[in-house]
Amino acid sequence: MALLITIHDVTPALSGRVQELWQLCAVRGVIPGLLVVPDWHGAAPIERDRGFAEWMRSCAEQGAEIFLHGERHDEIGLRRTWRDELRAIGRTNMEGEFLTLDYDAARGRIDRGLVRLRALGLSPIGFVPPAWLAKSATHRAVRDAGLAVSESDGEVLVHATGARLPSPVVRWSARGTLRAYGSVMQERLRWALQRSAPVMRIALHPADLDHPVTARSVERGLDTWLGERTQTQYADLGKRIPR
Ligand SMILES: [Zn+2]
Repeated sequence: MALLITIHDVTPALSGRVQELWQLCAVRGVIPGLLVVPDWHGAAPIERDRGFAEWMRSCAEQGAEIFLHGERHDEIGLRRTWRDELRAIGRTNMEGEFLTLDYDAARGRIDRGLVRLRALGLSPIGFVPPAWLAKSATHRAVRDAGLAVSESDGEVLVHATGARLPSPVVRWSARGTLRAYGSVMQERLRWALQRSAPVMRIALHPADLDHPVTARSVERGLDTWLGERTQTQYADLGKRIPR
C-alpha cells in the first residue's frame, strides 16, 4: 500500500508554517513532497527570498520531490462560469487558480512556473492545481510539459504510463472552528473506511497549524497512517502499481 505525503502552499509568504510542517515530517522519518507556488497571491515571488530558495534546494537534496502548485494560487483576473461555481462549491476560498483555465492558459502558467522553479535549481516532477480544481485540459498540459505526475482530488495521474490511480486525500481545514472539527472527523472517517485504499495521500497545508484542533490532528494522523504504511515516492508510482 502506498502513502504519498506532501506539503502544499510552499511559498516564502508562509515559510514559518511550511518549515514547521517539514519538521513534523522529519521527526517521523518522512521527506514530504513540496508543492511550490512561484508567486503566492502575486506578492511573494520565490526569487526574492534567497534563504527560502536555499532551504528548498536543501530539501530537494534530502530527497523531497518538487511539484509546481499553480502560479499565484488565486483567481485574480479570472472569471468563473456557473459550471465553475458549481465545481468549486465548498472547495476553496477563491484560490482555484486553474478552475477556469483552458489548455493554452493552463499551459502558459505551467511553462512559466517551471522556468522559475528550474532557475532556482529545482527539478519539478509534477503539478498539482490549487484546491485540486482543474479541467482535464490542465492535466494534458502537464503531460505535454513533460512532467511525470499530476493530481485531481480523487486520482493521481501518472503520465509516464497513462495510469490513473484512485487515491483518497487526507487533508484538514482550519478555516473556522466548525471546519476544523469537521476535517478532524473526516480524517478519522477516512481511517475507518479507506484504511486499505491502495494509494493514500496526506496533504499538509501551512494553515493546518493555525487551529490547535487541526494541528493536533495532523500529528496524530501522520502517526496513525505511518503506523501501517511507509512513505512512497511519486517517482516510484511510475515503476509499479502499488498494492
Ligand atoms: Zn494550495
